[in-house]
This record gives sequence, structure tokens and C-alpha cells, in this order.
Amino acid sequence: MTVDAETQPIQPESRAFEADVAKLLHLMVHSVYSDKDVFLRELISNAADACEKLRFEAIETPSLLGDDPQPRITVLADPEARRLVVEDNGVGMSRDEMVEALGTIARSGTKAFVERIEAAQQKEGAQLIGQFGVGFYSAFMVADRVEVVSRRAGADEAASWVSDGKGTFSVAPASLEEAPARGTRVILHLLEDAAQYAERWTLESTIKAQSGHVPVPIWLVEKPG
Ligand code: ADP
Ligand code: MG
Repeated sequence: MTVDAETQPIQPESRAFEADVAKLLHLMVHSVYSDKDVFLRELISNAADACEKLRFEAIETPSLLGDDPQPRITVLADPEARRLVVEDNGVGMSRDEMVEALGTIARSGTKAFVERIEAAQQKEGAQLIGQFGVGFYSAFMVADRVEVVSRRAGADEAASWVSDGKGTFSVAPASLEEAPARGTRVILHLLEDAAQYAERWTLESTIKAQSGHVPVPIWLVEKPG
């Protein structure tokens, strides 16, 4: 079936996380793991990976870079709205890529992680989180709602993904005005006890401490109140 975007209202489509993702999210949110800072390292590393993927694809298809050839990661802090945004101008994701990448346990290592953490005691489980590198889903350690808006390099459409991390996510087309010109914007609606991640000082020191070796320039911007 094709949907005519001009004449039909497009409803967001709600989907259930793959069972292992739901388990992982539950474990992460309820674990005693205290080093919540790692979520930022994970999001920045994904942003840097996306820039690297674009660089690679652009070797064969230089036009993908358009008039914006320099890779860039922007971290935008909005303390008043208790909001944190991590944006990149990397390769981006199509709608289907989002569903696949942010709804399933695409990574083989994560499945093993879920099995091990289920078998582990609470305290040991906490160590495992640090050991494995928990990826995108770690955003739900600090946020009760995460939105992703993405436009794949070279595409003339954009898509959005949103979830409260409690079993389902929904995907919908996004207008080009609300999407990055290329790449991915991850918007975190921070939990009350994670409000410090919308403060410039916390972000600056966290980024310095754990993302110092990222090969893409990181811009930290604070939204004026
Ligand atoms: P990993 O980075 O180990 O693959 P993650 O959980 O961190 O696992 O991310 C899952 C997948 O989601 C990535 O492999 C990638 O395909 C996609 N992804 C996440 N963030 C981005 C981003 N900023 N740009 C493009 N793709 C992304
Ligand atoms: Mg990752």
C-alpha cells in the first residue's frame, strides 16, 4: 500500500520493542547502576559513528555531503525545559533503519548481555552495564521520553521515532523543517533527578572526561533561557 502524503493524514505507527530490548530497558532503568554519565558517551559515540559512516559512503557518492562536508556533533542544553539534544550531521537513518536499529537487539553482544545480566545479582549486574557498553537504550537511564528525528544523507524525507522506554515506540514521517538537514537529532526529556544533564557545566566536564578522543568536533550550546 502506498500512502499519499499530500492527501492523507499520516498516523504515527506504534510498535512493540523486541522482547530482549524490553528486558534490557527494564534492567537498565531498575538496576542499581549509578554511573549514569555513560549515556552521553554512548550517544556521542553513535553520532561520531554516523559521521564516519557518511565519510565512508561519500567516497563513492561525494554528492551525499552536499554543501556541508565537515562532520559535526552538537550538544544542546536547555535547562529550563530540562531537555538535552545530541545532534549530528552524519549518515542519518531512514524510517526502516530506525525501526531496525532502535527497536531490536541488532547487536549480537547485547543479547549475551541480557542473558548474563538476568543471571547476575543486582550488584554484579551493575558492573556488567559498565562492561558491555549499553548503547542507545542507556538514554532511558536519564530520560522518560526520547525522541529521534533523522534524515538519511541524500534522502528527501525524514522520520521520527519516540518512546518512553516502556515497551513500545512509535515511528512517523517528519517534516523536513523539523528534521536536521542531514543526520540525526536525539532529544532527551530528562528525569527530574537527571536535570543536571541539561546544565552546561555538567555536560562540559562529562564530555571532556569520556568523549575526549572522539574524532569529530563537538559543539556545546546552551539555549538561552
Ligand atoms: P551500536 O552503536 O553498538 O551499534 P547502539 O545501541 O549504540 O549500538 O545503536 C544502535 C544502532 O542505532 C546503531 O548501530 C546505528 O545503526 C543506529 N544509530 C544510533 N544512533 C545513531 C545516529 N546518531 N545516527 C545514525 N544511526 C544511529
Ligand atoms: Mg553505539
